[in-house]
Amino acid sequence: MLALVRAVPDYPVAGVTFRDITGLLADGVAFGHVVAELARAAQGWGGIDLVAGMEARGFLLGAPIATSLGVGFLPLRKAGKLPPPTESVSYDLEYGTAALELRSGTLPVGARVLVVDDVLATGGTAAAGVDLVERSGGVVVGLAFLMELADLGGRARLAGREVATLLHVE
Ligand code: IMP
Repeated sequence: MLALVRAVPDYPVAGVTFRDITGLLADGVAFGHVVAELARAAQGWGGIDLVAGMEARGFLLGAPIATSLGVGFLPLRKAGKLPPPTESVSYDLEYGTAALELRSGTLPVGARVLVVDDVLATGGTAAAGVDLVERSGGVVVGLAFLMELADLGGRARLAGREVATLLHVE
């Protein structure tokens, strides 16, 4: 399945190898397998009430995982996309900051939430997603990703959490 993910050297900046998952998404068998496997891993963590996915590729995986689990989906959006009122969490990027936002009132207090994204790299985005869900009153049951870029240390940043990843590159 890793063969369906294209490694793009020096993108978006020199020295970075970007993993492009569009070829995998376009393959119906592989896409279905990814959704089924991540949903199966999450089922092993006990009851899940909602799936939260990070904009934008976390939507592509999180929404079918939610329907596969028979639960609803919460978009964790980039700053400024949602009308107020929102809950917001800022986090650091290599250059500058970003924010994730959730529409206030969409997350019932105590709801058990699975957080989904395509790639786990440094873990900054995932940690912000966890923070946003927890500040909004949810309980993060675990996190699921298609791919882990192991050298960038994201798993350590999520230490103590349940984490499922299907593909691994250094
Ligand atoms: P992190 O915050 O450093 O863990 O980066 C993860 C976030 O950046 C996720 O939302 C990914 O969608 C995106 N990302 C980082 N590296 C890649 C990549 O190589 N391919 C696709 N998305 C990436």
